[in-house]
Amino acid sequence: MDELKSMVLESAAYQQKQRAQYTPRFFMERFGELIKKQDIQEYVENAFLFSCEIAESLVTDIEINKNIHNKCLKGCSHCCTQPIQILEAERIVIINKINRDFSPEDKRKIKHAIKQFQKDLRSKVGAVKHTSKFRQDYLKQGLYCPFLGEDGACSIYNSRPINCRTYYEYISPESCERQDYSDTSIAFEDAQFTIYFMLKNALIAYAEYHGIDYIFLWDRYVNKNNIELLPFSVNTNDF
Ligand code: SF4
Repeated sequence: MDELKSMVLESAAYQQKQRAQYTPRFFMERFGELIKKQDIQEYVENAFLFSCEIAESLVTDIEINKNIHNKCLKGCSHCCTQPIQILEAERIVIINKINRDFSPEDKRKIKHAIKQFQKDLRSKVGAVKHTSKFRQDYLKQGLYCPFLGEDGACSIYNSRPINCRTYYEYISPESCERQDYSDTSIAFEDAQFTIYFMLKNALIAYAEYHGIDYIFLWDRYVNKNNIELLPFSVNTNDF
């Protein structure tokens, strides 16, 4: 366990140092053509996926450096019974993914799964509340996320939310099955912060080019005050 704690500290310092390079100027130079041509929703998706890729790769660097490797493998999905809250930026990424990559049959299935999940949760736990009691009641139900496929893999894997990307189990998936996330699982908050930091600078670059108030974009797409529970924020009329 001490090794895991030291890895978290090392990861935090490493993320902080590495993310500093992803300034608004970096995004202007790297994504200049997208900033000029894309509407904000397309750009948010590209900026989000790039930011996640960087943050996840920094976690991998630390794992390799410490020779400690997570046990999260395809088909292991115990953590997909947790309530996942998402930002507007994440909602857009998921909707774009479904509209672009899902077949009509897959769309029909996911619509059904989302509606069924909403119905089950409302009848068993009640209306969504942002409280610890709601979270505990949610966990007790053991309801799987509607985006989990029949093969045990996430159907939106490349577009999955931040919380699903920055959470790892290091000792045994059985502890996730028991919903015992205390000692051996890590939510890399520093990696989450890297994604927010990069999204902020990506939006600043877009806002400066288009003469928009950056705060407006931040509030609309990344502000945590607008966070929503995943299976309720994805509107099935959007695909
Ligand atoms: S979005 Fe994917 S990874 Fe996240 S909880 Fe749902 S199925 Fe699991």
